[in-house]
Amino acid sequence: MPDRTQVLRVALPVPLPTLFDYLPPAGSRPGPDWPGRRVRVPFGKGERVGVVLEVGEPATEPESLRRAIELLDDEPLLAGELLHTLAFCARYYHAPPGEVLATALPGPLRDGQPLPETTAASWRLTEAGVTALARPGRGRPRALLERLQAAPVAEETLEASFDGWREAARALARRGQAERQQLPPATTLADDPAAPAPTVAQAEALAVLRAGAGFRALLLEGVTGSGKTEVYLQAIRDCVARGRQALVLVPEIGLTPQTLQRFRSRLGLPVWEYHSGLADGERSRAWTAMARGEARVLVGTRSAIFVPMPRAGLIVVDEEHDASYKQQDGIRYHARDIALVRAHALEVPIVLGSATPSLESLHNAQAGRYTLLRLPQRAGSARPPAVRVLDVRKRLLVHGLGEEVFTAIAACLARGEQALVFRNRRGYAPVLLCHDCGWRAQCKRCDSPMTVHGVGRSLMCHHCGARGTRPLACPDCGGLGLQPQGFGTERLEEALAGRFPQARVVRIDRGSTRRRGELEARLREFGDAPGILVGTQMLAKGHDLPRLTLVVVVGVDEGLYSADFRASEKLAQLLVQVAGRAGRAERAGEVLLQTHHPGHPLLSTLLGGGYPALAALTLVEREAAGFPPYAHLAMLRAEAPRETEVQAFLAQARELAPDMHGVHVSAPMPAPMPRRAGRARGQMLLTAAQRPALHALLMPWVAQLYGLKSARRVRWSLDVDPIDLY
Ligand code: ADP
Ligand code: ZN
Ligand code: ZN
Repeated sequence: MPDRTQVLRVALPVPLPTLFDYLPPAGSRPGPDWPGRRVRVPFGKGERVGVVLEVGEPATEPESLRRAIELLDDEPLLAGELLHTLAFCARYYHAPPGEVLATALPGPLRDGQPLPETTAASWRLTEAGVTALARPGRGRPRALLERLQAAPVAEETLEASFDGWREAARALARRGQAERQQLPPATTLADDPAAPAPTVAQAEALAVLRAGAGFRALLLEGVTGSGKTEVYLQAIRDCVARGRQALVLVPEIGLTPQTLQRFRSRLGLPVWEYHSGLADGERSRAWTAMARGEARVLVGTRSAIFVPMPRAGLIVVDEEHDASYKQQDGIRYHARDIALVRAHALEVPIVLGSATPSLESLHNAQAGRYTLLRLPQRAGSARPPAVRVLDVRKRLLVHGLGEEVFTAIAACLARGEQALVFRNRRGYAPVLLCHDCGWRAQCKRCDSPMTVHGVGRSLMCHHCGARGTRPLACPDCGGLGLQPQGFGTERLEEALAGRFPQARVVRIDRGSTRRRGELEARLREFGDAPGILVGTQMLAKGHDLPRLTLVVVVGVDEGLYSADFRASEKLAQLLVQVAGRAGRAERAGEVLLQTHHPGHPLLSTLLGGGYPALAALTLVEREAAGFPPYAHLAMLRAEAPRETEVQAFLAQARELAPDMHGVHVSAPMPAPMPRRAGRARGQMLLTAAQRPALHALLMPWVAQLYGLKSARRVRWSLDVDPIDLY
């Protein structure tokens, strides 16, 4: 026999829970430093790019194995902590390792492209350029010469501050007076003259973060404007000053140009971004700059949690309760939870900030795993608004609004201020109903009514995107009694514009702000003059609106009686966030909650003791009901064109689930929306008081599900720690 054949165990981006064995590329000798490198391999009739995870003895006859085509990296692309964390994710979410790796890598790297250039280009003067400066001159090239006189200037800086720099630079280059150079990005901090002296509470938070090395979690609870970001900025400065890297996660909606601008101007060094709005190449560049240790600060959304941090020093998760941290398809990871795993593994501090922390995090703080610090409202910032419950029982509602609402808006406009009417439902009306026979416009492909749009003229399904025109007569009885029922943002906009014809009414929802930057543009257009904003939860956060002093919340009642066990937590978070929009330093704002259930405990607790009181009450309820954070859940979901296929799969899955002490496996059941986009949907919930028991069941069980014949006829997924039960 020749010497022992070594094989590569490769993770490939395919929905199978295994690694794939290959012979090493011809003429190569795999070594212990091969894991973490990418490799191109034959797969079926085509080729795939995967990551070598192990090098070892073949499990089967090596003759039966195919040979890898090409090793793509000279050194591991994924190494150390990150490789371990990704392996952990595959185990914890019971997901195919190759798909986890694919989720973690930016597109070009996933496709096998080489690591991009990360250096920044800048322009500097040549000898001839210095000489030319002594002579008089005119125009843009001259201005650029002068600009470059003191020091080279980065292209990014020129882009932001020098109109027409490209042509000017080209002109100078032609004359040999300036040249382009590639430099690694700056990693030194500039002074921060704008830094305010920390308050007592901020100093306390910073002391927790500065207390020696190692992992610790700080839960920073404070309303908008209480100074959380100042704490992050100080902690990031400390971290960078020690030569380390900081990662800041923000929710989808929190990543505004203003946020980035604030970080950049206060830190005075490059702040890299990582989010879905970037071109693939840019994502790849940021990822690589972190991997090389050249990037010191990276601000990003959910997927940024997978950037390498070879010189890690700090992780920040802003708005840690935000649902956008949970991926809802593919690998259903929770970026905040992975952030904690990584901070642990990297032995660095982590800060979780929020005005309304998740119950999971509050529970961890109670259990002593996190340090909880509350930042009090800062003097000089907006004062807490006065919240009033408007009991509309038996009151006449005009366009879904009580008369007191109109009075309050009129008074607000008369003072020259702005009002926000918040309704978490876009469209004109949620339902089109026949008043004669009771017929409702249903989506043909979903168990859901069509939403009326276009000022009552068209129909749209919010679940599958199906569109239709509104019928003139009832398709059932032929009557002309079709009426839009209920109020969405479009209808409120129409009603308010009709009632306040002098005022500007601007609507903000997913329909009106489809394109990137449109939200900012609409708010700019809204400006400072008196007016009314109508919108969905897109308006709950971000964007400073200093003239806004009145917030009206419509449609609270739908959240009060929802079947979702997280409904009250979500509603409370939303109410606190929306209410936070009202008020300024000089004048407290007013919040009106319009409801038919003024005595509901959620409202009275929230009004009496604020979010902390409601969170405490909800935690007690969760414990009694055996819901998270006092239990651990996993949801198996399946969908298929036919209901019988879903049922067959779930029944077999149920059968296969072993009886395990401490884990409850529910019977298969239809999803809350049993049919969506023409597909039948079903689910099955697994509950356990202890996490290890749940995972002990899941590990072998999920592996078996892949082998089920019935699994081939459905699309199925496992959601570990689901944030909702749909
Ligand atoms: P948050 O992140 O909680 O919304 P910020 O950190 O953005 O709060 O602070 C709100 C405003 O208060 C900002 O303009 C900030 O510069 C200012 N601020 C924060 N901390 C202090 C402080 N210690 N002294 C003076 N101003 C502060
Ligand atoms: Zn009818
Ligand atoms: Zn539909």
